Amino acid sequence: MARTRTGIGFDLHRMKRGRPFLLAGLRIPHPSGPDGHSDADPLSHAVVDALLGAAGLGDIGEHFPDSDPRWRGTPGPEFLQRTRALLARAGWKPLQVDAVLLCERPKLGPHKRRVAAALAKALGLRPSAVNVKAKTMEGLGDIGKGRAVAAQAVATVSRR
Ligand code: MG
Repeated sequence: MARTRTGIGFDLHRMKRGRPFLLAGLRIPHPSGPDGHSDADPLSHAVVDALLGAAGLGDIGEHFPDSDPRWRGTPGPEFLQRTRALLARAGWKPLQVDAVLLCERPKLGPHKRRVAAALAKALGLRPSAVNVKAKTMEGLGDIGKGRAVAAQAVATVSRR
């Protein structure tokens, strides 16, 4: 059986005025933020899906359905910690995460290292095992117009 496996994750949320902009539990100062049932953190959600994918455990919607009031307002780091527990039960642990944030405004470059460190902490990983990149969409499409924010992630897990 393979000692390590890799999964991919993606998430997108609409931007809404007055919503807090939270990434891995860190608040990014901005007049609008991702809208959704939980804290709507696309980065944490993409990483959860990448981890679940790597472990062959389905997706975030199966484990934390947005139809369940239990997950209303749930912070991204809580989903990450719960995912870690799901992985542990299946005999896996997170090894490494790489992610891309797709966001026009606010500029996330100045925040990416801090966000990566928070992500690492939630996953019980060393900061060097988590990388976060920030891209704009050059003004194109809904993300480029600031109407949405998205994240992509790749995660590798290893046998415990
Ligand atoms: Mg989401």
